[in-house]
Amino acid sequence: MSAGLLVSCAGMETPSRIVPNSQGNCLGSTNALHGNQLPPMIAPTPLHTPSDSTSAEESEGPMMSPTMGFSMTPCIPSTAEYAGPYGFQLCFQQSSTAKSATWTYSSELRKLYCQIFKTCPIQLKLVLSPPVGCLIRAMPVYKKAEHVTEVVKRCPNHELGRDFNEGQVAPPSHLVRIEGSSVARYMRDGESGRQSVLVLYEPPQVGSEHTTVLLSFMCNSSCVGGMNRRPILLIISLETHEGQVLGRRCFEARVCACPGRDRRADEEGARRGRGREGAFRKTCRAGPLSMQVSRRRRLAPPP
Ligand SMILES: [Zn+2]
Repeated sequence: MSAGLLVSCAGMETPSRIVPNSQGNCLGSTNALHGNQLPPMIAPTPLHTPSDSTSAEESEGPMMSPTMGFSMTPCIPSTAEYAGPYGFQLCFQQSSTAKSATWTYSSELRKLYCQIFKTCPIQLKLVLSPPVGCLIRAMPVYKKAEHVTEVVKRCPNHELGRDFNEGQVAPPSHLVRIEGSSVARYMRDGESGRQSVLVLYEPPQVGSEHTTVLLSFMCNSSCVGGMNRRPILLIISLETHEGQVLGRRCFEARVCACPGRDRRADEEGARRGRGREGAFRKTCRAGPLSMQVSRRRRLAPPP
């Protein structure tokens, strides 16, 4: 376990010890459970039962269990952060921006940078144990409003190619895969066509504080006919096997050749943007624009 993880995630076993975390790599510690508001030990009544949602989702790939993964995916999936009754959090190991890095996470931008086909570990942490049989779902959505109704899929080039498709459990059109789990189940919502991947939530192993899930992305963000440079968000949710959401976390993901370089460039750009914003505010405080213009005119040298 890395030092960064210890700093950002240590000591969150109980709700009262959750601290706001703006710099660390944890998603969701700020709006997790607060103060004495202890979460209910029993999950609330499910919003819908398996019997009324059986037609909502179709499994793609091998079957896992007949009861798993029924969920009615809304047309526009929510990206709202939700700690839920079990204090669901998502963490990333501290990661470098070295040239050789195959993935890196910017907590400043809440953005993951990852190379295509490479494995990226995400760490799940819960304050309280959820009911047995809960699932973790990963679903990509487009970030911008003008694209959000479109389903995020792989580009035709990668979908129809042989590499990373032959002999794979995952259907070739899915962008996001979960590696290292033979029981990952690939789903396609019958109504919206949204694709997602589900695995059983496993509690942390003895001596560990978190559960690791290995994600991989099967297209570049720049893939023509696929994401086509449109930014995406990845929604990670904790769900009951009936599809009730018990927690949700969300981050932006960019799949690119040089994760470290792109992260550095984006972070510098964001800082410059904030600098400009600060300067603009100062200008506003200095007086109306017309006054500044006339002042500048007076100071300007004669032509
Ligand atoms: Zn592609």
